[in-house]
Amino acid sequence: MHVRRKLVAGNWKMNGNLAQLAELHAIAEAARAAGGVDVAVCPPFTLIAPAVTRAGGAIVIGAQDCHAEESGAHTGNVSAAMIKEAGGRMAIVGHSERRAEQQESDVAVRGKAVAALRHGFVTIVCVGESALDRAAGSHVDVVERQLEGSLPDSWEEGELVLAYEPIWAIGTGNVATPADIGEMHAAIRRHLVGRFGDSGQRTRILYGGSVKADNAAEIFAVADVDGALVGGASLTADLFVPIIEAAARS
Ligand code: PEP
Repeated sequence: MHVRRKLVAGNWKMNGNLAQLAELHAIAEAARAAGGVDVAVCPPFTLIAPAVTRAGGAIVIGAQDCHAEESGAHTGNVSAAMIKEAGGRMAIVGHSERRAEQQESDVAVRGKAVAALRHGFVTIVCVGESALDRAAGSHVDVVERQLEGSLPDSWEEGELVLAYEPIWAIGTGNVATPADIGEMHAAIRRHLVGRFGDSGQRTRILYGGSVKADNAAEIFAVADVDGALVGGASLTADLFVPIIEAAARS
């Protein structure tokens, strides 16, 4: 039986400023008090370095994306090496907002994951179906194809983490039911074990999509849910800390 520590990761998206980093103080306190739970915050690139200083080691600070290359003519992009120099130790790749707004393909996401892992990052690869996919009953097939295309075949450094984020649940207040989450996390686990063997058993699978204080405990109780990727409710300590505490109790 593998014991996987819960990971609660906040995705600040294009929100936050220097003043908002004050929230990290109470979040770091909660992370220290919780013990047994890994806590991370991924602010915009510009806030990574000051966030690392504020977090004081209690919270992993990461990025919401990284480029597949180390450097070069890629205007507007940021490499994993640059994130690492700023103190970041995590990257989220393949978030559905980037897949939609930047037309990121599975192949592109895989390249980013390879780069992030090469730098030793905790690398969260996001997958998830649309409302249309779910209505058509093809949600598991869609996620299976994303896993097939977005995950590297092997890596030596870093830690691969999956995040199942149904697109229709992100930022909408519509949370997947425990049964929906359980079905998909079991399918993802089967894929990981089938492809990576024992390390697939150790891989953490997060749920993301309108996780809040009042639904976190129920979500963390679902089999194969090893934590949460949290958007809106990670922006303030008042909203985020109860989710960390729920993970610690689960
Ligand atoms: C996310 O963007 O990864 C997310 C899960 O957002 P929210 O929690 O706001 O639904």
